[in-house]
Amino acid sequence: MAYQRPKGTNDILPGNSEKWQFLEETARLLFQDYRFQEIRTPLFEHYEVVARSVGDTSDIVSKEMYDFYDKGQRHITLRPEGTAPIVRAYVENKLFGPEFPNPYKLYYIESMFRYERPQAGRLRQFHQIGVEVFGSENPATDVETIAMALDYFKQLGVEHLQLVINSLGDKESRLAYREALIAYLERYEAELSGDSKRRLHENPLRVLDSKDPKDQAIVANAPSILDYLNETSAKHFQAVQEFLTALAIPYEIDSNMVRGLDYYNHTIFEIVSNAPGFNGVQTTVCGGGRYDGLVEELGGKPTPAFGFAMGMERLLITLEAEGIELPTVLPLDCYVVGLGETTNLECLKVVQAIRNAGFSCDRDYLNRKAKGQFKTAAKEGARLVLTIGETELTNGVANVKNMATGKEVTYPLTEIYQNFPEIFEDLTELD
Ligand code: ATP
Ligand code: MG
Repeated sequence: MAYQRPKGTNDILPGNSEKWQFLEETARLLFQDYRFQEIRTPLFEHYEVVARSVGDTSDIVSKEMYDFYDKGQRHITLRPEGTAPIVRAYVENKLFGPEFPNPYKLYYIESMFRYERPQAGRLRQFHQIGVEVFGSENPATDVETIAMALDYFKQLGVEHLQLVINSLGDKESRLAYREALIAYLERYEAELSGDSKRRLHENPLRVLDSKDPKDQAIVANAPSILDYLNETSAKHFQAVQEFLTALAIPYEIDSNMVRGLDYYNHTIFEIVSNAPGFNGVQTTVCGGGRYDGLVEELGGKPTPAFGFAMGMERLLITLEAEGIELPTVLPLDCYVVGLGETTNLECLKVVQAIRNAGFSCDRDYLNRKAKGQFKTAAKEGARLVLTIGETELTNGVANVKNMATGKEVTYPLTEIYQNFPEIFEDLTELD
């Protein structure tokens, strides 16, 4: 019987994993320029940590958690998102003391787990690149962090993007808005979807996020949260807009955008791709915002915070729709061709010497004919091919060929062992 991987999961195979490495490496280098440091949290958490943060009425907690009781009867969940575990870690490890930078800036590249209906760009195990900033309520933090996400897409060559922002205001603003929204939605209660009916009184903002087309039609004319922002909230949102403009970052405001997680306040944003390959369909590749109340909610001192997460699978789909090609083979510096079984030991020693000199190197192990070995070398994109036949072995030499220029030189084996970097340099300087 042949087994299959669980529904909604992927094997990331060679030829494809190189693309993932490229996305990850690009993110690491950029985030380091912004002075973010990497954090890695456990793959599973106490259920409570996620339920408290993300909110009981959210899709994630109400439908999508991979939760179970372990052998010690602890209620555990696989991590569905990055922020809750990181806030837990921030509080638990006291990452706010005088020995830590303030604001404290973290990034992660990790897999997440949500029990969803699998489709393109929607998996049960998926991967996110995300960041969190703790300790700054300065709207410059909101804008810089958004700018970093946009810089990342720019570095990858993505052009067809739209930044959409909104403000959920502070607690006071949201309470005022909540009442107005309930009053509006109650007029359409009978027509709302089951989910939205239930959320109407528990968490009416969730209704704005509904994917049901009938709900969406009702929501289109709902009161706007932006009309309910108090002075502090309006000032913060105003500053965010001014700063975006100062950095020449185009944006749109969507006052019905609320995002799927309960912990947000003030600025929230999404980066949406409308790449030509999507034929008019929009895809959210990145989402985030401010969550000033969450650290306290999880037992810490009141701490302002801002973060985002992007889905790597969706990013790859977006890059494809943009026609951007990522590397699928890593470069090979040298391929060693050995002709005849007697050369086996010398080949073994030569590839090790070349690798130890800091170059990538591979060889034939199956005693193939010269033609087959050269074909493999070409397929792997080798820059140099080093050939040892029986005659070369007797004479203590090897032939080294630059595959691009065709230039060939015979070197004593002793020189190859002692001086491969110079040989590589001599043979490749012109190509
Ligand atoms: P959606 O509305 O598409 O369900 P979300 O609001 O649940 O998205 P977030 O929790 O904000 O998404 O996660 C941030 C990003 O992670 C999303 O913008 C998306 O790119 C990606 N993402 C979320 N869920 C999945 C999934 N099941 N499979 C693949 N990527 C996902
Ligand atoms: Mg979702």
